[in-house]
Parts: sequence; C-alpha cells; structure tokens
Amino acid sequence: MTVSNPGDRDDELIEKLEHIDKWLNSISHVSELPQTKPKPASAQPPQKQQPILQKPSPSPQRFSSQKPPQYTGQRPAPQKPTNQPHQRSFPQRSNRHRGNRSNPPRPGLQSCPAIQNSTQFHGRPQSKPVVPFKQKHQSAQTGPYLQKQSNNSMNFRKNNQKNRRFSHRNNVVQTYGKPVQPAPSQKPKPFTFTKDVLRIIPLGGFEEIGKNMMAFEYEHDIVIVDMGLQFPTEDMLGVDYVLPDATYLIERKHLIRGVFLTHGHLDHIGGIPYILPKLGFPPVYGTPLTLGLVKKHLTEFGFLKQSKLITFKPEDHFRAGAFDVSFFPVTHSIPDSVGIVLDTPCGRVVHTGDFKFDFTPSGQPPSNLQTLSKVGDKGVVALISDSTNALEPGFTTTEKVIAENLEKIIEETTGRLIITSFSSLIGRLQNIIDSALKLNRKIFLTGRSIENNIAIAKQLGYIKLPDGLVQDIRKLNKYDDAHVLILTTGSQGEDMSALARMASNRHVQVKIKKGDTVVLSASPIIGNETAIFKVINGLCRLGAKIITNKDLGIHTSGHGKQEDLKLMIRLMKPRYLIPEHGDFYMRTAHKELGKQSSIPESNILILDNGVVAEIRKTGEVVKTKEKVPANYVMVEGPDRSEVASHILMDRQLMAENGAVVVLFYVQAKTFRLRAKPLVESRGFVFFDLKNKVTDEIKKTGERAFVQFLKANPHKVNKDALLVYLAQTIDRALVRMLNKKPLVLPILIEV
Ligand SMILES: [Zn+2]
Ligand SMILES: [Zn+2]
Repeated sequence: MTVSNPGDRDDELIEKLEHIDKWLNSISHVSELPQTKPKPASAQPPQKQQPILQKPSPSPQRFSSQKPPQYTGQRPAPQKPTNQPHQRSFPQRSNRHRGNRSNPPRPGLQSCPAIQNSTQFHGRPQSKPVVPFKQKHQSAQTGPYLQKQSNNSMNFRKNNQKNRRFSHRNNVVQTYGKPVQPAPSQKPKPFTFTKDVLRIIPLGGFEEIGKNMMAFEYEHDIVIVDMGLQFPTEDMLGVDYVLPDATYLIERKHLIRGVFLTHGHLDHIGGIPYILPKLGFPPVYGTPLTLGLVKKHLTEFGFLKQSKLITFKPEDHFRAGAFDVSFFPVTHSIPDSVGIVLDTPCGRVVHTGDFKFDFTPSGQPPSNLQTLSKVGDKGVVALISDSTNALEPGFTTTEKVIAENLEKIIEETTGRLIITSFSSLIGRLQNIIDSALKLNRKIFLTGRSIENNIAIAKQLGYIKLPDGLVQDIRKLNKYDDAHVLILTTGSQGEDMSALARMASNRHVQVKIKKGDTVVLSASPIIGNETAIFKVINGLCRLGAKIITNKDLGIHTSGHGKQEDLKLMIRLMKPRYLIPEHGDFYMRTAHKELGKQSSIPESNILILDNGVVAEIRKTGEVVKTKEKVPANYVMVEGPDRSEVASHILMDRQLMAENGAVVVLFYVQAKTFRLRAKPLVESRGFVFFDLKNKVTDEIKKTGERAFVQFLKANPHKVNKDALLVYLAQTIDRALVRMLNKKPLVLPILIEV
C-alpha cells in the first residue's frame, strides 16, 4: 500500500484505529519465532536480547533445545497446563456478555484502503502465560474436527490414545419390534480394538454441570448417551455455548449405532444440532417430549430432514450393535425422563440420567421403586449416577409441596402476579395453570422459551390448557390486576429475558408498578446470582413485591439429594459406581455416599472428561490412563462458528488491560523506518501517564525494530518481526506499569 502523505498520518491513524475490529478478523496467526534468529545488538545485555527466542516452548516437537527453531507459520500453543485438578465449573448463566457481539458495526468499518497492505501482529505475545480456559486432555490425533481446534491453541497434551483397528461387521442398527434403522454409510477406518472390553468414554458432564455426553464402545460398536451443551462462564467473553468435544466420535462415526437421550434439558440435548451433522446423522432415540424439543432445535438449524429420530417409551428396548438398550422412567424436573440400561457382553451398565425420587410429582408418574429394583436384580456391573446434589443432605422436596405453596401465594395476592420458573418445568407450569384457573386469573405468556415449551408440551399432551385461559399479552391492560397472572422467562437473570426487560423497564407490554408481585420459582444456578440480584433490584425499584425460594418453599431441585442417591445405589446394587453430572467435589461427595452404601472405595471411579474406563469380561471395571480429546468447544454468532481460545484470550486481555496499537511506517524497498512509530491505545492508561508511556513504547518499538533488522540484514520475515516487536513492547510495559494490554504492532510500507 501507499500512504501518500506522511503529514496526514494522525488523521489517518484515527480512521485506521476505527478499523481494528475488522483487522482482527483478517489477520494470520503467526509464530513468535523468526526464521532467522535476530542477533542481539551489542549494547543490549545478553539475557535481555532474545528472551522471546529463548523462551522454552510448550511444544517440544517444535521448540527443541537441540535444533534451532523454525518458523512454522502457525501460532504456537500456549503454555502447557499443569496437571492440577480441574477446579472450575461451568454452570448455566445468563447471556449478559453477549451484548458486544450484537453491536452494530461502526461507520467506516466496511473498507480501509489505506491499510489493505499493512502487516500486523495479532494476539498476545508468547511471553504472557495466560491460560484462562480449559486446556486439558489434549489429543495428538488429527481428525478434521481436531485440526480446527488445534488452531485454537488448545492442544497441549499428547494423547495416549492407542489406535484401534476396526473390522466392519454389520453397519445396521438392529431393533426388536422396531423398524431397522440403517446406520450412516461411512467408509470404515482402520482402528484397532481391544476384544471383549466395554469402554466407557465420558466426553462431558464429568467436570461441570452441563454439556453431558458419554460414549460406550464395545469392539466396533458405539452408542452415545446424551449430547448436551453448556452456557459460558463469565470469562468466555462473547461465547454463546460450550459443546462437548466430539473428536473421538467423529473419527469413529461409522461405528456409532445410536444416540440415546435421557431427557429434554439443554445440557443433554442442546449439542445435537451442532454435533449430529459431524457424526453423519446417526439415529437419535428419545421419549416423545424429549424428541419434540430436539425436533424444534433441529428445525431451527435446518437439519430435521436429514435426522433420524426414533421415539421410544420406557418399556421399549433396542438392539444397537453389541448393545441391548432398555430404559426405566425416572422423576426429574421435566417429564419423560428416563435412565438407560445397556446390556453388553461385559455385563449390565446403568446410566441414571438426571433424577430424583418424587412420589407425588407433577405432570409425570411417581417414582417406581419396583421397576428400578428389577433393573438392579439382574446384576449391574456399573452404575453411572447423577451427582448434582450429592452435597445436599436429605431427600428432595416433592413437587406437590411447591404446588401448594404457589397456590397459596396466588390466592393471597391481590394485584398482578408475575411468576418465573424454568421453562422446562412442565409439571410446575401445569400446577400454576391449574391454580390460575381455580382462582380466576387469566394467564399471559412472555418469553420465547416458555411460549415454545408450553406449545410443544400442549401439542404432545403433557400440558392441559383450557381454551381461553391463555390470553394475548398485548391485551394485558384490558384485565383487572387481580385477574392477571403473567408466566415469564428470566429466572436466572438472563439479560434479554422478559423478566430482565421488565426490571429495566424495557418490556413493551409489561410495565412493573406498585402492587405487582413477582415470584421467582427457581433457585439461582451457581454463577447467576449477580445477574438475578440485579433483576430483583430493578423490579423492587419499580415497586414490585418479590417472593423468592428463600421466603417460601416455591422451588425444588430436579436432582436427587444424598438420600435419593443412596436409594438409587441400594436399588441398583451395582458392583461399581461412577458418579457423573457434577464437578469434582460433587462427584467426590457422591463417592462418600457410595461408600456408605456398601460399595468398596476401590470400586468407585472418579473419572474426568476424556478419561476412559474399561469393563473387562471378568466384570472388573478399571480407570485407564487413556485420554481422548475432551476440550471445550465454544460456539458463537449467527453462523455458530467455533471460537478459537486465543481469540478469547485476546478478548480477555483487552477487557482487563486495554489495547495498544503501534504503527511502524517503513520504506517499502529498504525496509527502514521512515519516522518514529505512532502509538494509540484504548482502555490502557490514564491521561496523565499517557505521554510518558507513549514515549517509552515509541522508543522501545524503534529500538526493537532496528535490532531485528540488524540481526536479519538480508531478508526480513515480517511475521517474525511483528512478533518480536509485540513481545519487546509487551515486556517493556510490564516492567514499567506491570500491565499487559493487547499489543498490536502494524507495519505500513510506504
Ligand atoms: Zn435435567
Ligand atoms: Zn442435566
């Protein structure tokens, strides 16, 4: 490119800085290592001359001490994480961090001819060992899925995965009493397999509450249980959802005989539209309500036509390769929940799914101890069981008590009532509907998920809704306050939910006023407390009376507490227990419950995502050292593209310390600096420090530029130069201010 008049540079600079967002999308990711090591300038102390180049790399293959480093053209992986136990959970949370993405583009972002040929360094210098996201269980395999992730700089750990040989036997899912479902016609890959061993492969839900997915593999047959998603944590800036890592399954998709779903919560079905196409659309089995919800998601993604959805009832069973799959009903916070029984050549494995014991539930049959006991009577080798409430003593409260308490509130309230709950709590919604009918209130729905879920549940017969009871929210003001009951979304403080909009007076139809009562019939999910509190504050400020579960018993968990979990163990009588659906400490608490229920400690396996357990034909269950890929796969945006972890790191750096752009004007032919670098920053330092810091950045940048050119007099590798500049400036800023902004050096050849 050319910048015709260097005298106009300041104006141009301002304009150019407006385009940084666009540049971020178009840059190539470069290695920190120049092709030729720049030799240090003689005036510089030796240990500070090439720290970037000498820094031990996390990738031993690429950065051997024996061999001079070569420029690879790829961004290097961040520092290898230690083997410390994973301590973070990824609970559901609001989408309050998504605001930035939806901001309209600023004017002038569409074109920037002045910088089209500029070269720039994007990203954090290698010198900062920030590894803010999960980077465990890395695989050295290079399936197409992983290749995408390897660009995410998330691949650290070599996988011990042994290749498995595949002998293609019968590419058909056989069924008993059901139509034969053809499995995807994929060309077999040459995998080896261990004979007579059932492999249990947790791919999600073992280090968090969310993104549940598990694979069971016997020789050349795989069945999958659940395919969920997870909502991002606060540090995942701009991310919409987190998915389980399906790399292992993608590489073996021709072996997959079916996906069996336990129930219709998003942490169990939300990953289907993202992952199912990558697996070649294997058949998906679920109960009617579960599949009703799955259908809705697949339709939104345009995948319904290709998907093979097979509805089952709890009494059905299927043959899927080496697996005989049957089910048992469980009570949970959504109807139609089941546990899954896998009868295999290595014995019976039971996966409970999410459950609690409720003998007076709403909208679903009560827990049936006899059925469960029968499952256990046939001999269970391993029980894989829900750990969400393993730290909570006692039994969970029955839904009947909640229904009674809610009805009492509806009866005693004189003004408008606004009730929020989880939109999948169909039974509770039915109770509220029944009470509204009884107490002469009309129901108004607001919030997409509650409207959708009620529509699906009504269509499938899970909710009874008398005609005329639900009224259009736009007619709200035509009714007396005493006859109004608004059912809404937003129990977790989600930023765009109907309740949050009411709290901030942004809701078009519902304007909160004195005399309104807002009932939060839900408990905060860990991580959502601040958002919920903000909503409550807003509602309170507008004059509403707030009733939460703390005030009255108006919510109960869908997950069994300690006594429920022990009861399940007693009914199933397993030889081995594998706690799932929970973070490490929850699963460890579940282990204690297992011990109290007469399971020897050695027979309780605490697995992590990606850690493979094996059941031998002898009935022995062992936790192996094998780890399959189990990274966090993050998606965002309307195209649901996967988000590379280095992008998140950059976002985090900018959020914490701002950004510094350093422009180097160089002569195109000689590659010499034409002037001192220009510096512009955002969110970095206060005005009174700015001049001093800017001067230092200019000096450091210029010095580094000259040094690099001296060390590479014949050929300049621009990418390596940019990395060197960024790292040198980065270190200078740390020395001066102990701050690490995102440093973006940009070369402009004139
Ligand atoms: Zn659930
Ligand atoms: Zn769940």
